[in-house]
Amino acid sequence: MSFLRSMFRWPSKVETPASPSKSPVGERAPLPQFANDDVVKPIPEPVAIPTPAPEPAPTRARLDPAWMPPASMNRIILHWTAGGYRATNLDRSHYHLLVEGDGVVVRGVRSIKANERIGSKSADSYAAHTLGCNTGSIGISMCSMVGAIEVPFSAGKCPLTEVQWQRAAEVVADLCKFYGIAISDKTVLSHAEVQPNLGIKQKGKWDITRLPWNPALKGPAACGNDFRRRVKEAML
Ligand SMILES: [Zn+2]
Repeated sequence: MSFLRSMFRWPSKVETPASPSKSPVGERAPLPQFANDDVVKPIPEPVAIPTPAPEPAPTRARLDPAWMPPASMNRIILHWTAGGYRATNLDRSHYHLLVEGDGVVVRGVRSIKANERIGSKSADSYAAHTLGCNTGSIGISMCSMVGAIEVPFSAGKCPLTEVQWQRAAEVVADLCKFYGIAISDKTVLSHAEVQPNLGIKQKGKWDITRLPWNPALKGPAACGNDFRRRVKEAML
């Protein structure tokens, strides 16, 4: 038995291969599998991250409707007070609305309606702001220009500021809308334009013929046109 067994024994190297020579195919790593016909799909677009809607542009302050009583008004006349940056009680008695140095709008003593028809009213019962032209006229004034000199020009200690000018234009835009006043040089005008544009004589009033922040603009029409342009923009 032992002999036979040795006769039929497989060679040891075959029985237990010391260094098995495996097939190269068997060793190869599996090929990558493509899903569809070996076509590489495009990389999908990254998912868009929703962005919040842009904030709406801040809306400017509107004139309090309670300050605009129903009345039939024809025009708006723009002034400066020839005072400081704050509205005094005297200022408030002469104008319907005032724009202080920081752009704050102050209401005058008299209602706009008080100027609808003046007739034989006493001068202290309406806003007396423009000689011979108070009926149907809204008077708005910018608190500034105390001690100012026309020639040679000096704006004094409280020069009219562009903030006041712009705020006044916005207030006038609200007034034009409410009272149905068209914007023209006869209906939205400065005190200095009353004589040349309406033919109503004034006593040398020069508000507004100079803009301290823009010396290139001189005269009633140049300043008035700049103002009306801003009113039109504020109407939008
Ligand atoms: Zn004036």
